[in-house]
Amino acid sequence: MANAAGVLVIVELADGKPISLVFEQLGLAKRLSEKLGGSVAVALLGSGVEAVAQDLIAQGADKVYVAEHPLLSDYQSDAWLPVVAKIVEAAAPAAILVGNTTLGTDLAPRLAFRLGAGVAMGCVEMNADGGKLQAVRSCFGNKAREKISFKTAVVVATIKPKSQEPFVRDGARSGETIKIAVDIQASAVRTTLISREKEKTEGVKLENASVVVAGGRGLGGPEGFRDLEKLAGLLKGAVGASRVAVDLGWVPPSWQIGLTGKTVTPEVYFAIGISGASHHLAGCGGSKAIVAINSDAEAAIFNDAKFGIIGDLKAIVPALIEEVRKAKA
Ligand SMILES: Cc1cc2nc3c(=O)[nH]c(=O)nc-3n(C[C@H](O)[C@H](O)[C@H](O)COP(=O)(O)OP(=O)(O)OC[C@H]3O[C@@H](n4cnc5c(N)ncnc54)[C@H](O)[C@@H]3O)c2cc1C
Repeated sequence: MANAAGVLVIVELADGKPISLVFEQLGLAKRLSEKLGGSVAVALLGSGVEAVAQDLIAQGADKVYVAEHPLLSDYQSDAWLPVVAKIVEAAAPAAILVGNTTLGTDLAPRLAFRLGAGVAMGCVEMNADGGKLQAVRSCFGNKAREKISFKTAVVVATIKPKSQEPFVRDGARSGETIKIAVDIQASAVRTTLISREKEKTEGVKLENASVVVAGGRGLGGPEGFRDLEKLAGLLKGAVGASRVAVDLGWVPPSWQIGLTGKTVTPEVYFAIGISGASHHLAGCGGSKAIVAINSDAEAAIFNDAKFGIIGDLKAIVPALIEEVRKAKA
């Protein structure tokens, strides 16, 4: 793309509002655009979404490209892709930031292919020193980080949640809203969304929790998770699980943390009866501090833990709950 400059953020909405990751993408977009030159644009797709534009401007957007059509209200790649490509043509960005979500990981490679752009998935950092974009992401199950440079003028990157500081909200900011004409034929959309089931969550959402109490096979059964729920409740945290605990049917799949589950980056991550497989650490290795409770002193989790307790969780967890209760009282 000729004269590519600035950054375009793809907006993902939940219940009509941008998800918090969009504001983190905007924070990164602002920092990158200072080095790349150009402005921060956002692509806002949906039906009846224009009211969100001002919020996005307050959070760092200079230009909001709004594309409205009933077929855009739920993400479907056939409907979204040509419209996003049209916005890219109008905005001519050097970097396109997409959330590393179910939507983003579906859209980003398709978009990159269509644009002939380089793509990097699951980025935790991006730089544009000397005007050249570079991305950083975890590899080897979070044991190492790799730095990626690009050969293309336009780059698509998916950004991991909680990896970026959001732009500080400024309600007095002004920006431009640009309407994009949309002409989609229903016959061009090859999939139909039949239903959507909202994940049931009580209390803090796992992805947003500053304390996560996670359990694995060592808990011995679903009843083991009751104590974890008590501990999480006292610490205003959320409960997570290893894949084994999910596969055994002890807890719902939405609790799974790891490579094929959720990524969490809390201040404190309790790994209780979890061995510390790289597949699990891929989802929690970015936590500020891991506290491991395991009866096996050789368990791999102790290599990544800041604090470790070697012993039987059946004795340690109730004692910990008791101590937290006392400290709170
Ligand atoms: C492609 C692929 C993707 C995967 N994705 C994921 C993923 O997203 N998330 C994930 O978690 N896994 C994932 N896995 C599985 C992963 O490799 C491990 O098998 C899994 O994480 C192990 O779960 P665990 O730690 O609960 O069980 P185990 O490895 O069996 O560990 C149980 C631990 O509990 C300890 N323990 C037992 N009893 C007690 C006690 N009384 N007190 C204290 N400690 C005790 C043991 O010492 C042991 O360390 C994936 C695997 C593959 C191949």
